[in-house]
Amino acid sequence: MIYTRHRPRRRALRCTMCGREIVRGEEYWFCSGRLACADCFLELARGELAPCREVCGREEWL
Ligand SMILES: [Zn+2]
Repeated sequence: MIYTRHRPRRRALRCTMCGREIVRGEEYWFCSGRLACADCFLELARGELAPCREVCGREEWL
């Protein structure tokens, strides 16, 4: 029997926003079915928190 060090390749993780591959050891965020790399985190966070967005002086709840 021949033993090799070859392991089955895992599917690459890709950022849902920009499509870039997330490499081993890199941080990413997974929220509401979307996966975001560090470069796209702000866009993801803005989208997720959009219902909480207010503009000073135009608040409807005041
Ligand atoms: Zn990205």
